[in-house]
Amino acid sequence: MLTGGTQDYDVIIVGGGPAGTSAAVHLATRGARVALVERERFPRAKLCGEFISPECLAHFARLGVLDEMTGAGGARVGETIFFARSGRRVGVPSAWFGAEATGDVDTAAAAALGLSRAEMDQRLMLRARALGVEVLEETQVTGLLFADGGGRAPVCGVRVERRGVESELRAGVTIDATGRGRALARRVEGAATSNSVNGANGESGANGENGAEARNGEKARNAAKVRNGARGVASPSSKRMPLVAFKAHLENVGGDEGVCEIYFYRGGYGGLSRVENGLSNLCFIVAAQDVRARASDAERVMREIVMSNARAAETLCGARVRSEWLAVALESFGRRELVPCEGLLTVGDAASFIDPFTGSGMLMALESGELAAACVGRALPTLRAGGMFAPLAEDYRARYRERFAARLRVCSWLRRAAFAPRLATEAGIFVLGASERVRRVVARATRHA
Ligand SMILES: Cc1cc2nc3c(=O)[nH]c(=O)nc-3n(C[C@H](O)[C@H](O)[C@H](O)COP(=O)(O)OP(=O)(O)OC[C@H]3O[C@@H](n4cnc5c(N)ncnc54)[C@H](O)[C@@H]3O)c2cc1C
Repeated sequence: MLTGGTQDYDVIIVGGGPAGTSAAVHLATRGARVALVERERFPRAKLCGEFISPECLAHFARLGVLDEMTGAGGARVGETIFFARSGRRVGVPSAWFGAEATGDVDTAAAAALGLSRAEMDQRLMLRARALGVEVLEETQVTGLLFADGGGRAPVCGVRVERRGVESELRAGVTIDATGRGRALARRVEGAATSNSVNGANGESGANGENGAEARNGEKARNAAKVRNGARGVASPSSKRMPLVAFKAHLENVGGDEGVCEIYFYRGGYGGLSRVENGLSNLCFIVAAQDVRARASDAERVMREIVMSNARAAETLCGARVRSEWLAVALESFGRRELVPCEGLLTVGDAASFIDPFTGSGMLMALESGELAAACVGRALPTLRAGGMFAPLAEDYRARYRERFAARLRVCSWLRRAAFAPRLATEAGIFVLGASERVRRVVARATRHA
């Protein structure tokens, strides 16, 4: 029963990560009436490497949160060093992505920022709220609304539930910003939806799939229960290779303050980067079979798999875990449907999931949120007057392709290299180490030209 009534907006955004809040802030700045629906209560921990690429600072400036972000006690990260298992290394200065690349000296973005997602996402959400966005936390989407009253497009909003109260939010445009889980898109993607391992609504993800994160103990074990061949990640040889990602905050790690370190090992890689409060974030990806073989004990996986990398063994030998472990199964990378149906757009990871070791997922989230807001903002007068959705869909698809297609292609090549056998990874790091010019070209190719 509907007990909370119906509310009308120009745009409804579901998901309060960087993509959703970026879209919300930019739309609110354009005068749109926006609702932002988030299932968690912020601040909340989030599985992520927490390496905020330097170009994000220019986004923070446009979003009006630069001072809040740089003053949040995070770490300045001047370089990322990639370590092969043997300890062979190759470095990429953050300046190659920041001020030097964009010419945006105002934001002084010569360095990346190491800041927890709890802090970053909270600041973005507060900014959206301050601009008049109706932020609904701890609110679950229970269904899509369709203009015909049945199950056919166009989508015209969502049905939500908060503490037992159900309401309807209606709008001409609904944006799925729910991350890799694509909670809204899955509802309209016919075959994919009905074949979903997690059932029709594509949400909860009790086994850690669909982007839902499992925490310590019993639930974390479930993240490793990825069935071979069912939901895995295409490996270089096109075999399916189920992967699991883990993250925790540590104290007493080695390594340099201003350096993000990436470690390669059999079946995956991990990143170690300083965040606030003297802690470091360790986030790593491993083969699900390696997790199962260690009874899904995250710390054991860290010691036996991640620390098989010579450099990781050095920096992590005295580390103590100061947070709970988060774990999630990774199901696929790359581009997804941008306009799953009339009335519905996707942004951020819901639109494309770029390989984490490029450190550019949050950048793509902020960028695609801004891009979607610009396209929707232009279309709003027409939509309010009862105009067609199709030109907006075309505009968004074309601009998205222009902005992201090349880097998604490059990152898919790099992913194959990252998961290549040991000798190939060692050789790759050797070759990149030999030429600064090649390194610079490859690094820049993971961003917008
Ligand atoms: C292992 C790993 C390491 C990474 N490291 C980095 C890194 O160092 N640097 C970097 O830039 N990127 C990194 N990324 C990528 C980055 O985390 C993502 O690209 C980014 O979080 C995408 O933002 P988003 O807003 O699209 O989605 P998310 O950040 O996933 O946000 C989605 C939001 O939607 C909410 N939500 C989900 N379902 C629902 C629902 N049904 N109803 C309401 N709300 C819902 C969630 O609670 C969440 O708050 C990493 C990713 C992984 C997997």
